[in-house]
Amino acid sequence: MTQTKPSPSSGSVAHGDKLYEGKAKILYATANPDELIQYFKDDATAFNAEKKGTIVDKGIVNNKIASALFTMLEKEGVVTHFVRQLSDREMLVKKLEIVPLEVTMRNITAGGMCRMLGIEEGIVLKTPVFEWHYKSDALGDPLINDDHILAMKFATAAELDQIRKESEKINTILLAYFKKRKIDLVDFKLEFGRHKGKILLGDEISPDTCRFWEEGTKRKLDKDRFRRDMGDVESAYQEMLRRVLA
Ligand code: 5GP
Repeated sequence: MTQTKPSPSSGSVAHGDKLYEGKAKILYATANPDELIQYFKDDATAFNAEKKGTIVDKGIVNNKIASALFTMLEKEGVVTHFVRQLSDREMLVKKLEIVPLEVTMRNITAGGMCRMLGIEEGIVLKTPVFEWHYKSDALGDPLINDDHILAMKFATAAELDQIRKESEKINTILLAYFKKRKIDLVDFKLEFGRHKGKILLGDEISPDTCRFWEEGTKRKLDKDRFRRDMGDVESAYQEMLRRVLA
């Protein structure tokens, strides 16, 4: 299927102006100033956009996976920006003032942690590793600590405490959820924002933002297949959707 252009309306919600176009998603205004449409593209980038490509139907798969995961997390008491899925590629979300931080939670070594510490991939960590990164494409999302965040006023101490607790809770919930689906949750990235004075989970949770390994075989079912030119990228994303919907 080829990527469709954003439709002029999504069910009962009409598109307003395009507010922001990122590497994988577009945000549109709606008639409600508190809500936006988040549109999922097939565009894929890696290594700070040095590598660019397309993963056919990725937008549809990621929208469906993220919608299912946000719905499940909300039921577990996690407050998210998700309102509802509108169409194959669109979800309605609450408007957030983005906190310029990315949280990474790690359960098994991979990617950045291996590069930073010179260790091999696949070591099961004794306890989950929580990391703050400063959200900056120009700087490659550098690892930072609480002191940097407080000194730069990126967030308050109370917000940091809340985001950290929410992230640990989300990790516990997702680990159990994917274990049932015979998937090892290696690591993932979360973003949070402010809405009416409250901190909400934003962005997406999908094979673009997580590392998923098939239990036993350790077959990669995530964006690392694109990053490393491993092939079978589309089928890996479809397999993750199948397991999430199972
Ligand atoms: P790492 O730091 O090892 O590159 O990434 C850790 C986890 O967070 C991986 O699951 C990766 O997909 C996700 N992640 C970290 N930064 C980004 C980012 O800027 N964009 C996306 N899509 N995922 C990220």
